[in-house]
Amino acid sequence: MKCPFCGFENTKVIETRVSKDGLSIRRRRECIGCSKRFSTLEVVDLTLPVVVKKDGRREPFSREKIMKGLRKAFEKRPVSVEEQEEIVNKVEKFLLSLGEREVSSQLIGEKVIELIREVDEVAYVRFASVYRQFKDISDFLEELRRLIKRDEKQILP
Ligand SMILES: [Zn+2]
Repeated sequence: MKCPFCGFENTKVIETRVSKDGLSIRRRRECIGCSKRFSTLEVVDLTLPVVVKKDGRREPFSREKIMKGLRKAFEKRPVSVEEQEEIVNKVEKFLLSLGEREVSSQLIGEKVIELIREVDEVAYVRFASVYRQFKDISDFLEELRRLIKRDEKQILP
């Protein structure tokens, strides 16, 4: 790290202190060039990555968007709102654990499908293969909803 005072390329760490909660590290540094001291703070970056869509456009990850899709898709399935929220929580945790600044919408889609499988095997078996034809998870969830509706009509006399 460059010295903020003289721009010298090299500094030495003279003290390292971990915060009480263990979530940040403060380092006292000294410039080898001008001997001035400064400190740096290292914190966990909990910013969700930007979503890269198939056409290359980028958009912020939207919890609401996935939640809305799941709510529609599971309208008539025995999957509670809590379980749906848990899916979105797991997607968020997964994205944070990647430590990437950008992720493809495809990867998010695959993760959502995997998590749907955990809560609703029937929906998964029926629709997982269909998913791959869609460009976006929200398009897929829309289709999932349509298919569930169609199946209901066929079951009814
Ligand atoms: Zn300096």
